[in-house]
Amino acid sequence: MKSKAAILVGFGRPLEIEEIDVAEPRENEVRIKVAASGVCHSDLHAAHGVYGGNLPAILGHEGAGIVESVGNGVSNVAAGDHVIISWKPACGHCRSCLRGRPNLCEGAAWADCGRMKDGTTRYSSNGSDVLHFGGVSTFTEYTVVPAECAVKIGRDLPLVPMSLVGCAVTTGVGAAINTARIVAGDSVAIIGCGGVGLSSLQGARIAGAKTIIAVDQSDAALSLARSLGATHTINSRCDDPKRSIVEIGNGGVDWSIEAVGRQETMDLAVSILNRGGQAVLAGVARAETMVSFKPFVLVRQENAILGSYYGSARPHTDFPRFANYYRQGMLDLDSMVTPRKLEEINEILTDLESGANGRSVIVF
Ligand SMILES: [Zn+2]
Ligand SMILES: [Zn+2]
Repeated sequence: MKSKAAILVGFGRPLEIEEIDVAEPRENEVRIKVAASGVCHSDLHAAHGVYGGNLPAILGHEGAGIVESVGNGVSNVAAGDHVIISWKPACGHCRSCLRGRPNLCEGAAWADCGRMKDGTTRYSSNGSDVLHFGGVSTFTEYTVVPAECAVKIGRDLPLVPMSLVGCAVTTGVGAAINTARIVAGDSVAIIGCGGVGLSSLQGARIAGAKTIIAVDQSDAALSLARSLGATHTINSRCDDPKRSIVEIGNGGVDWSIEAVGRQETMDLAVSILNRGGQAVLAGVARAETMVSFKPFVLVRQENAILGSYYGSARPHTDFPRFANYYRQGMLDLDSMVTPRKLEEINEILTDLESGANGRSVIVF
């Protein structure tokens, strides 16, 4: 089957739009007509070679679409089903899967090689292999993913906003309500108001946080944060965020959620906690990044630092749950989406680099 796709041919180089061939799904795989794909900072990291890996490859990992066909042995979805794609294949029988933490599955290392479980790829260009991205690729009209990565949702849900559930929403809302356990009346600081930060902010609001302080360097992002439920906003280019947060929170916040992945913002997340407060680090940092804290303070205040990977989510129960928050009007995704075309992919990646707000979503 022919499909238009954006291919990464060399790290640091622009993606190339090409028509590729997408093969039939094999055993326990599904072929999906992608309706929409968000563009995430992790795509930018991948394009810059931060994760290494083999090329050429099709990036994109935040998608929703309609199942076109299924391979042998697939029972969780059928052709015509609407699905959100999970970028974290889970084997179902490793220690983490058995402990109910499929986001930490250690049995799907094959996905990192850019190939499917059987070591082959479903994409080709003029007869040469083109690789997958983490087991899924969504910058393509058609994709093939492991069946376990296709999570069925109701047909009443619009697929463009649902695509965000595949990464930003699950990472952000999950950080707020799975990793952090915010309860009504708590104070929360959200550091970074991109797709993940704005989702964390909404998760904090859904959990009933009383004070939600949003920090960013862009006034446009902060204005969106305010409309999505922030009670206070701080532009860290103009104001000292630490001093302001400690003042607003009367000593600090109960929770901080970091959604940037830089040393200075992670240091900030740890330094603004009130007594008993906890910092949740959800941003993807570079491997060499270090964070510092004062153990004297951490011990006396019983503070904690938590990592959050894919929002501590169980995609097969959390995706439908987050989709339902959208259906009930609790989760505003429409305000976060900026619709774009596949041909604009390189501009979108440049916008991400410069910290543009909201989420660019490629609509097919
Ligand atoms: Zn992502
Ligand atoms: Zn596993």
